[in-house]
Amino acid sequence: MAKTTALETPVQYLKGVGPKLARIFSKLDILSVEDLLYFFPRDYEDRSNPTPMASLNAGHSVLVRGEIVKIDAKNSHQKIAVVKATLADSTGQIKAVWFNQPYLTKLFRYGMRLFVSGRVEYNPFESGLQLNVRDFEIDNGLPLSIVPIYPLTEGLYQKKVRLLVNTALDVFLGQIIDPLPPHILQKYSLPGLRDAVKDMHLPQSKSKVERARKRLVFEDFFVFQLGLALRQRVLKETVEGRSFRIDGELFNRFSSELPFELTSAQKRVLEEIKTDMASNCPMKRLLQGDVGSGKTIVATAAAVIAAQNDMQTAFMAPTEILAQQHFEKTKKLLAKLKIKAALLTGASSAAEKKRIAEGLRTGKISIVIGTHALIQEKIDFKALGLALVDEQHRFGVMQRTELLKKGVNLSAGAHGTPPDMLFMTATPIPRSLALTLYGDLDRSVIDELPPGRTPVKTYFVPEQKRVSSYEFMREQINEGRQIYFVYPLVEESEEMDLKNATDEAQRLQNEIFPEFKIGLVHGRIKGDEKENIMGQFKSGKINILVSTTVIEVGIDVPNASVMVIEHVERFGLSQLHQLRGRVGRGASLSYCFLVGDPRTPESRQRVKAMLESTDGFHIAEVDLRLRGPGDFCGVRQSGLPNFRMADIIRDNAILKTARQAAFEHLAKDPGLVLPENRILKESLFNRFGKVLDLETIH
Ligand code: ADP
Ligand code: MG
Repeated sequence: MAKTTALETPVQYLKGVGPKLARIFSKLDILSVEDLLYFFPRDYEDRSNPTPMASLNAGHSVLVRGEIVKIDAKNSHQKIAVVKATLADSTGQIKAVWFNQPYLTKLFRYGMRLFVSGRVEYNPFESGLQLNVRDFEIDNGLPLSIVPIYPLTEGLYQKKVRLLVNTALDVFLGQIIDPLPPHILQKYSLPGLRDAVKDMHLPQSKSKVERARKRLVFEDFFVFQLGLALRQRVLKETVEGRSFRIDGELFNRFSSELPFELTSAQKRVLEEIKTDMASNCPMKRLLQGDVGSGKTIVATAAAVIAAQNDMQTAFMAPTEILAQQHFEKTKKLLAKLKIKAALLTGASSAAEKKRIAEGLRTGKISIVIGTHALIQEKIDFKALGLALVDEQHRFGVMQRTELLKKGVNLSAGAHGTPPDMLFMTATPIPRSLALTLYGDLDRSVIDELPPGRTPVKTYFVPEQKRVSSYEFMREQINEGRQIYFVYPLVEESEEMDLKNATDEAQRLQNEIFPEFKIGLVHGRIKGDEKENIMGQFKSGKINILVSTTVIEVGIDVPNASVMVIEHVERFGLSQLHQLRGRVGRGASLSYCFLVGDPRTPESRQRVKAMLESTDGFHIAEVDLRLRGPGDFCGVRQSGLPNFRMADIIRDNAILKTARQAAFEHLAKDPGLVLPENRILKESLFNRFGKVLDLETIH
């Protein structure tokens, strides 16, 4: 779809840019003229209010406006070239000092007017103030009072960039075509794109900058959300799904035989799922809920509905341990209903695998639980109706497309109807981020824990208090409880003075808790052995489990009451929250000890957030603010869009408006085929086609 336009002219062909400068620009990802036009200032200098000379004080950074009354450059004996010029305005004067720019003596003339910014300092040798110049410009009397300041790199200077941007604006601004249709601009009071780009570089006031910035943020979000809306439409509305019968003997029996009453959040979410399943649009829903909020039972309910309609369910977990756990959790309930479930993992024997494959092909097995290999391998389902995908946060949009496509292919036997899909995640994803990463899915949130849970008591344990915490742990174990110790690394590296899990397991066993049984799991321990140790911990044979972060996701041992996290400063906030969620799963009080030595402000804030709150969504918000979206829980790998201006945290309010506008807009022209949307569609595919995988789904 991409055509070459004048804007794609390499920046090197711009007047004033040679190969050398082009190389420097490429370091800033500026390759074309268009890139340069979208290379926006990081700040602006307001020249409308220069500081009067009479009120200059040492230690301040200032901007002054004055006339050269004296030039003093007789410093040729010095190694560093120093040019001094005294500047005067109506209130007084100051000596301005330039370092390392000897050519300035040729430029400066008496009576020349300058804008100069820099830092005022006291010069003890001359017993007076001087201005160490950071930047200056000849005051040519133009009314322009706000000057852009660009983010630079070595070899690039403000004045040069300003000049080149001006050239680019002169020659190319007219080539920019606004992707936003006029009625959208009008409805949301936005300036046109040309005005916005110009105002970013050459604003007449700060409010013009703000207006331009908002417009660019809106466009980023609008176009991206339009892409999500398009994805959603293609995946859901253009394909016929199944309409499941909800009320029926099986589901009613399931509901009446539940071992507990669902929380109101679970009930609400189940209603949302039932509505999706009943409708003939294929369900594409994200189910979010903190660890322990009870997602599994809700997912199982959906599987029962599918079974009631003689449809099969594939329940996929990110690891074999978790697949096993889901299987254990649901087995009893399903057996009571005579729904046949099977666990298929890498550990299953060849004969077992064959038996399960056969059962799925004939339809004897209704529910298969396993890793994502389930959907990646060629398994013939008789009638796959539902796919449950756990821990969706590990999968970006692209991987999701893969799963969705596989889902469609898998069920090709059943009239090519795609299965309903429910993506589950225990990572509380802040709304703004969820709208960006999962904006093509409908979203349900379980924001309530089952009753009777007492929030985990969290303490910070400085290194010197470590020993006294062992006594407390001993009491807990003597009361029959179990303990996790989590370490950030598997092996000690020479540079980093970190105790590693292996050494510590030994030390704890030999020196601290010789009377208890200690198990060790980490990434290098083989699958079978790991399962074996985890199994012993689950059954209570092991009192203390020492591990690296392999236990982060989903492990459920309600009897564990203490979580010790060593080197707390090495963990991200959301990760800490996940780890803490491993305890507090039973009815009695649980504890989390954060051990370590947080020194950076950020690591202290993380500890503080952990001590203050157990609300996963609150913690996720803090984490997002501390780290930025790119680093939030592996989000980078899952493909964040590259926005020109928008920041999903700062510009959250615009995100909401733009999303709504985009969905409304697409509803009026679902295929984006109207002529007024041609440029918009082009822009969407050029900018976000790849990250949203639009070519494939289209
Ligand atoms: P998640 O998958 O969301 O982390 P689970 O589904 O594993 O959480 O549920 C955690 C525990 O809470 C399980 O032992 C489950 O049986 C129990 N549970 C779930 N819902 C309820 C409820 N409404 N009332 C009481 N216990 C519940
Ligand atoms: Mg779970």
